[in-house]
Amino acid sequence: MHDILPSDMHLWHQLEKTVRTVFSSYGFSEIRIPVVEKTELFARAIGEATDVVEKEMYSFEDRNGDFLSLRPEGTAGVVRAAIQNNLLYAAPLRLWYMGSMFRRERPQKGRTRQFHQVGAEVFGAAGPDIDAELLVMCQRIWRGLGLSGLRLEINSLGTADERSQYRKELHGFLSANSQELDADSLRRLDRNPLRILDSKNPEVQNLLKDAPSLYDYLGDESNQHFSACRSLLEAFGVNYTVNPRLVRGLDYYSHTVFEWITDQLGAQGTVCAGGRYDGLVEIQGGRPWPGVGFAMGQERLVELMRNQAEPEPEVPHVYLVLAGAGSVENGLKLAEQLREHVPGIRAQSNLGGGSFKSQFKRADRSGARLAIVLGEDELRLGQATIKHLRDDTSQEQVALDQLSTWFRQWLGQETGSKDPGA
Ligand code: ATP
Ligand code: MG
Repeated sequence: MHDILPSDMHLWHQLEKTVRTVFSSYGFSEIRIPVVEKTELFARAIGEATDVVEKEMYSFEDRNGDFLSLRPEGTAGVVRAAIQNNLLYAAPLRLWYMGSMFRRERPQKGRTRQFHQVGAEVFGAAGPDIDAELLVMCQRIWRGLGLSGLRLEINSLGTADERSQYRKELHGFLSANSQELDADSLRRLDRNPLRILDSKNPEVQNLLKDAPSLYDYLGDESNQHFSACRSLLEAFGVNYTVNPRLVRGLDYYSHTVFEWITDQLGAQGTVCAGGRYDGLVEIQGGRPWPGVGFAMGQERLVELMRNQAEPEPEVPHVYLVLAGAGSVENGLKLAEQLREHVPGIRAQSNLGGGSFKSQFKRADRSGARLAIVLGEDELRLGQATIKHLRDDTSQEQVALDQLSTWFRQWLGQETGSKDPGA
């Protein structure tokens, strides 16, 4: 479990701001669900035979004997909340969430035990149109974050019946070749053989080349759903490849599943994964209500943003250098005035006194573009000196009662030149 340090916070904020804006432009509403839920909720929703439920959950017995778990993912809780709060009548219901998830995985690059996901879920829309729209929306988020080089892989898992037919065939094939399976795959063989398709072991992958293909078991309806989704993606200009081995860890997934993958993060390159889960609401005691959604790994996206996009860290705009009698009290008041009257300004006052020289050193280290200098001379004249710390624009004197106006103008130009579209 990691700290997220102030030096990274601008990336997190940019990610959060972008998803918020994009989700709302597609008609999604935010939902916040508890971090702790009953263990059985996850066991039922995610599936007993999945890695998450078998060995990754942080579970504990509450004082009253309830079995509880820290949430390992968001979908189960969102479905529970939608049923309990009667949200599903408003179908199609579009929800999004953001927050920490917990899985006791082997720590490695790209995998932590507390991580953060942004997720979206749509209930009550059964067609391929929403599958495609979700993927178009993801693409808009990547663009908004300045990310490139993400590729989309999709697959169809058909219906539960089709899959159970296929599961038998696959199980037969894998059992006959069990001497070529690794320990992980052997463990999955009887309980969740489809998950073996997803194995990262090259030897297992080699064996799978000869395995039966799910596509031979898909019926007309499944084929139509998949090809309609693909046509829509093409119409929207979303590039994808079909990966017949792409499966999700959960039993109830159906039809479209997908992953957005980058090659720039090493082995853990999936930044967003999801698909259709038409059985899930019913499993949890609701009406048979179709669902589809995805979850993005925020840590991995932030890492990519750090490598690719380089947005500017959030440093103060202005540092107040306060030296001489009366300058501290007047300076702190001035900073308050700026915060009051210049929306968005980031002002940092010098604390703890010091000579002009040492205060300018701190101003420089703060990263601020400007300094307001308030000394005894300035106070006597009722004005402040504004110094440009990052270029050689000459300094100027501004009357104290004009300072807010001056900074509103400066900030307007600053943000205007950085973000011409805004
Ligand atoms: P895998 O098969 O790689 O374990 P998963 O099926 O467990 O993947 P999901 O549950 O679909 O992954 O999670 C969606 C996304 O959340 C992942 O693509 C990834 O970006 C992120 N994620 C999942 N687990 C972790 C983790 N332990 N640390 C950091 N990010 C994670
Ligand atoms: Mg996992």
